[in-house]
Amino acid sequence: MSERKVVLLRYGEIFLKGGNRGFFEKRLVSNAKRAVAQIAGSRIERVHGRVLAWPPAEGDAADGKKTVRALERVFGLTSLSPAHVVERDLAAISRAAVEGARAEVARRGGKPTFKVETRRADKRFQPASPEVSRQVGAAIVEALGLPVDVHAPMFTVGVEIGFEHAFVFAESVPGPGGLPVGVTGRVELLLSGGIDSPVAGWMMLKRGCELGATYFHSFPYTGDQAKEKVITLARKLAAWQLGDVRLKVVGFTDVQKALRDASGDGRLAVVLYRRMMLRVAERLARADKARALVTGEALAQVASQTLENLGVIGDATRMPMLRPCLGHDKQETIAIARRIGTYDTSILPFDDCCSLFVPEHPETRAKMEDVVACEARVDVEAMADACAGGAELVIARVA
Ligand code: ATP
Ligand code: MG
Repeated sequence: MSERKVVLLRYGEIFLKGGNRGFFEKRLVSNAKRAVAQIAGSRIERVHGRVLAWPPAEGDAADGKKTVRALERVFGLTSLSPAHVVERDLAAISRAAVEGARAEVARRGGKPTFKVETRRADKRFQPASPEVSRQVGAAIVEALGLPVDVHAPMFTVGVEIGFEHAFVFAESVPGPGGLPVGVTGRVELLLSGGIDSPVAGWMMLKRGCELGATYFHSFPYTGDQAKEKVITLARKLAAWQLGDVRLKVVGFTDVQKALRDASGDGRLAVVLYRRMMLRVAERLARADKARALVTGEALAQVASQTLENLGVIGDATRMPMLRPCLGHDKQETIAIARRIGTYDTSILPFDDCCSLFVPEHPETRAKMEDVVACEARVDVEAMADACAGGAELVIARVA
């Protein structure tokens, strides 16, 4: 029997996009190619409404696993199935099906119920799908004595009859879902070293956006390690984007001091910092052709994130503000951070610039007229221009 393995890739939401379907599929395939590019000899192929990932022909089981791991980061994929590649012949298909079922038994223990589902891409193949399922099912019953349950089976053996080969699989691994990165447009993430903003960036990647990022650095109050931490986070996002993240590091110390002084008693300082961050990020976003700004803000999580303050802060930009974590409890954001691999970096203890020069009781209900009065003491537009003009570009490469 052929030992050749392939991974079948499934995608869902793309079908809903009607006229865009071709464009979405093309992007999905090129993203899948980028995901496996590190694995020498692996290959992505698009055939008859299916996308296949071939592990290296000379490779071993580890290469197959590596290929699946890599593809688990391709947004747009709903599930993946490592499959046996066999001749289009019922005996060969049945042998592979028994082998797949045996592996499921080993994994699950006992005598799990199963069913067989057949799809023919090549409708000329005979017998028809229900009969293939029946015969393959009978072979599994005979070899392993497993009970069939067509309504609620504990696992399903899939058979796909292609034009050149047949594919047989028993295992399905969930994909990350969402839309292929690149199909919805570019956004600019305000990336701090915290837990929330990397998650916010990941959620936009999941909706098909491409990410640029801006980080506000207040050296020496926030040190080199704080900057390195943000670069690490940007690289972790790059691994999900399947491409470099253009990270702009903005020197913010002098501006922060000037805004703190302009804020009088300091109660509005954080609101003024945030408004300035948006002005600068908007400029950098336009330069990179991004259409929206993204933050990790969650409603009422901290003093600066009350409904009143979000309103006054957001007023500083005319770009759409995306806040994908807005409705999260902190625990929900933390769970995502752990899953996507940013949490361990985010909790490293290097200070964030917004904790600088801030009183113990900041304003939770900032009023626009007070903010405008503070900002009238400085030239906010010139400051934003200078910050954006002096930004250092760091290319955060896939780790
Ligand atoms: P995070 O965990 O992302 O830091 P947070 O809950 O700590 O968020 P804040 O520190 O109040 O909340 O920041 C709110 C948002 O403002 C952040 O999610 C981020 O998008 C942006 N932001 C804050 N500080 C910076 C910074 N130094 N550089 C870039 N963006 C920042
Ligand atoms: Mg923070």
